[in-house]
Amino acid sequence: MIAIQDFKLSGTALPKDAIGMLDEIAEHFTEHSDVLRTGNHVLLKSDIGTADIRAEGDRLLIELNSPSDEALQLVRTMLAEHLFYFAGDDPFELNWSELPPPASPSNLYEMTVVSAEDVTPRMRRVKFSCADISPFMRDDMHVRLLVPPKGRPPVWPGIREDGRLAWPKGEDKIVVRIYTIRAVDVERRELWIDFLQHPAPGVHTPGADFARDAQPGQTVALIGPGGGDMPKASRILLVGDESALPAIARIAAEAEPGTRLQAIIEVEDEAEQQVLTTRGTLDVQWLHRANYPTGSTGMLADEAINAIAPLEADTFIWVACEKKDVRTIKGVLKTRNHDRKLKYVAWYWERGVAARD
Ligand SMILES: Cc1cc2nc3c(=O)[nH]c(=O)nc-3n(C[C@H](O)[C@H](O)[C@H](O)COP(=O)(O)OP(=O)(O)OC[C@H]3O[C@@H](n4cnc5c(N)ncnc54)[C@H](O)[C@@H]3O)c2cc1C
Repeated sequence: MIAIQDFKLSGTALPKDAIGMLDEIAEHFTEHSDVLRTGNHVLLKSDIGTADIRAEGDRLLIELNSPSDEALQLVRTMLAEHLFYFAGDDPFELNWSELPPPASPSNLYEMTVVSAEDVTPRMRRVKFSCADISPFMRDDMHVRLLVPPKGRPPVWPGIREDGRLAWPKGEDKIVVRIYTIRAVDVERRELWIDFLQHPAPGVHTPGADFARDAQPGQTVALIGPGGGDMPKASRILLVGDESALPAIARIAAEAEPGTRLQAIIEVEDEAEQQVLTTRGTLDVQWLHRANYPTGSTGMLADEAINAIAPLEADTFIWVACEKKDVRTIKGVLKTRNHDRKLKYVAWYWERGVAARD
């Protein structure tokens, strides 16, 4: 249910191909919001507001509506980040009827490291505390972790005139990586993030290294939470590798009593298996990468496809893993025509490619 929309903002975007960008908006935002597409018009609806986007000639005319000014600024930033991403290297201009306030985004929270410990040999849990835990007590599971350079006071991002985040540069540059909130401890005002340690010779892994070296008292920030809502259905299939294991563990732990969960999880070996708890029923199939024949790939995708084939149409299919496996599974889901509201399929990392700061 959308609240009364009192806060408004209009914008004009000048992309290279207005209709092409409208197509990308309509396709991409189905993952995040309700999308209504009619001809040259797209309406995006979420609980933080609406974005009405109309292609006129070579322009996109944008009207944003939100229930609060805070929400309005978040909608603007989210849309601006996406539009520039869709534009890629093409020339692109975005102007707004009012400039953003000169402050950090309202969903940026400073956090303090409380502790860091190994859950398994390759999974390290960092616990963070914060002044106000309430923004994290939602179904949204994902955050952007911001790690400032060691030995310098943190400089957090502001907002540019076009609505995008203004990231600090040079000596103040921060590492940014996406993670899942594994659990929220409301009483202690703490939240947990589980970081896979995935060292490889000669490869820099700033996100994993942060967790390896994290010290109590260290300051970081989180932007979010957002995206990756809890799947709600009486039957759920969960597929993922270690990067998705924190999300799978949380979904299982928070599923309603009576939910029937099936999980296929790829980890390095038996030592990486975790005990997963649920109030429903859970059937887990662990795949051990260490046992695969040398050079083999796509084992997780193969197992997932076998498991998807006999599923009932009302089963929620949740998949997160490496990009190539996700592409394979997405292809199969397309032919199955599975209800889009009953699926979440996202790649969490790409082999050989570092995440972008
Ligand atoms: C929505 C979302 C939620 C996520 N939640 C979690 C989470 O809770 N816990 C978690 O550990 N990760 C999670 N990830 C994945 C994490 O963001 C990436 O693994 C990220 O690349 C780690 O950053 P890094 O600095 O350690 O390595 P990067 O600098 O990004 O990459 C360095 C190298 O490591 C490789 N690499 C990256 N990730 C992996 C991996 N998982 N296995 C093997 N090689 C890898 C890359 O291909 C690259 O060659 C999530 C990703 C998304 C999009």
